[in-house]
Amino acid sequence: MKVIVVGGGITGVSVAEWLRRDGHEVTIVDRVGPGDVTQASYGNCGIVGRSSVVPLSTPGLFWQAPGMLLDPDTLLFLRWRHLPRLTPWLARFLWNGRRDKVMQIAKGLASLVRDSDEQHFALAAGTPAEGFLQRGPYVTLFRSREDFARNPFANELRKKHGAVWDDWDRTAIAAYDPAVSPAYRFATAMPDYVFVRSPSQYVAALADHFRQSGGNILCHEVVHIKQSKQGKATVALANGQRLEADRAVLAAGVWSGRLAARLGHKATLESERGYHLMLKGASHAPPAVLNIPDTGLGVCPMAEGLCFGGAVDFSGIDGAPNERVYDAIRRQIHRVYPDLTWEDETKWTGQRPSTIDSLPVLGPSPKAPSIYLAFGSQHIGLTIGPRIGKTIADLISGRQTDMDVTPFRVDRFE
Ligand SMILES: Cc1cc2nc3c(=O)[nH]c(=O)nc-3n(C[C@H](O)[C@H](O)[C@H](O)COP(=O)(O)OP(=O)(O)OC[C@H]3O[C@@H](n4cnc5c(N)ncnc54)[C@H](O)[C@@H]3O)c2cc1C
Repeated sequence: MKVIVVGGGITGVSVAEWLRRDGHEVTIVDRVGPGDVTQASYGNCGIVGRSSVVPLSTPGLFWQAPGMLLDPDTLLFLRWRHLPRLTPWLARFLWNGRRDKVMQIAKGLASLVRDSDEQHFALAAGTPAEGFLQRGPYVTLFRSREDFARNPFANELRKKHGAVWDDWDRTAIAAYDPAVSPAYRFATAMPDYVFVRSPSQYVAALADHFRQSGGNILCHEVVHIKQSKQGKATVALANGQRLEADRAVLAAGVWSGRLAARLGHKATLESERGYHLMLKGASHAPPAVLNIPDTGLGVCPMAEGLCFGGAVDFSGIDGAPNERVYDAIRRQIHRVYPDLTWEDETKWTGQRPSTIDSLPVLGPSPKAPSIYLAFGSQHIGLTIGPRIGKTIADLISGRQTDMDVTPFRVDRFE
C-alpha cells in the first residue's frame, strides 16, 4: 500500500519506519526536516518513562494551580490574554483530574508505556539511532520523605502499574551525586531506566535510516487531509500540489488538532509549552537523569551538554515563548546544584500536544477510515512514539493489535 505520514517528529518517524518494515511504500511529509529545532521532539528531556502513568491533572490540581501560577518558581505559566480561549479546554482538563477518571486514564497510559524500553530498542536496533539509547537509574529528588509521601494516590498508581523503586536517604544521594544540594534528603531510584542522549539526533538518525532503506521524505506544508469518494487519502500541500495514497496518517504533533478539525473531529489540542537551557562546559553532570518535582525540572546529561528541561506554559499554539521562564530555570539550577558553573548556554522551547484527558488519539478516523490519527502524546511523546508507530502499523497492515485501542478513539470527545 501507498501511505503518507504527515509529520516527521518522533511519532511520525516511528509510524513511517514500522510501516516501511511491513513492506508499504511510505512517504513522510513535513514542513521541516526530522530532528528540526521547531519540533517538540527536538529538545525534550530524553526520558523513556515506562512508569509515566500519572497524568498532570490529578485530584487537588484545581486548588493548587492558582498558587502555582503566582509563584514564579513552580515553572507553571499562563499568558493571561490566552485565558479566554484556554478556559473550555482547561475546565475539562481539570475536571478529568478527579480520582476515578485518573485511575481510568492511568490504565490507558500504562498500556502505552509498559513496554516502552523494548519498543525503543526494537525500533532503533541495527540503526545509528541505537547509539543514543542509554540505561541508568531514574532518580527523583525530594526535600524530605514527607514531601515524597504527600502524594500517596500518585505513588500508589505507579506501584499498581508495575513501578518499583529503592528509597534513598541523604547518604545514598550524596554517594550517587555529591554535587546535589544538601537540601535534598530523600530520593526514589528506579533501576535500569532508558534515556535518549540526544532526542533530536535520535529522530534524525531514525529518519536517515528510513530514507536509506527506501522511505521517502518530502519537505512541504500540508493544508488539509481528506478522503476521496474512491476511498483514497488525499493530502493537499500549500504549493497547490495534491498527493494521493491508500492511507494517510496524521502525526503532526500540536498542530494536528487543526487538520483533524477539517475532517470534522473535535480533538481539541492545547499546547503545553516546555523549555530547556542546555549548558555547555558545565562544571558537573549527574551520572543519569535526575527528576526534581519541586523545581519542575529534569536534569539530563545529553550529547550536546547538560540539559535542564521542563516547565508548563499555556501561551497558545501561536503565542510567543515567555522569556521569563529561562530566568526561572536559571534560579532553579542553583537550588539543585548550588556550586554549578557553565561557560555557555542555549535556550529552547517546544510545544507538547495535550488533550483534555492526557491520552493520545490513536486509530482510524471514523469519518474518513483511510486516514489514521496519531497525536496528543503530551509529556510522554518520546516514550510512546515507537509504541504508537507499531500500533498504527498493526492497524494499517490488518494485524491484531497487542493492546486495546478503544480508550484512544477520537470520537470520545464528540
Ligand atoms: C521541555 C520538554 C520536555 C519533554 N520531556 C520528555 C521526556 O523526557 N520524555 C518524553 O517521553 N516526552 C517528553 N516530552 C514530550 C515530547 O517531546 C512530545 O510529546 C513529542 O516530542 C511529540 O512528538 P510528535 O512527533 O507528536 O510532535 P513533534 O515532534 O512536534 O512533530 C510534529 C511535526 O509535524 C510537523 N507539522 C505540523 N503541522 C504540519 C503541517 N501542516 N504540514 C507539514 N508538517 C507539519 C511539524 O513541522 C513537526 O515536525 C517533553 C516535551 C518538552 C517540551
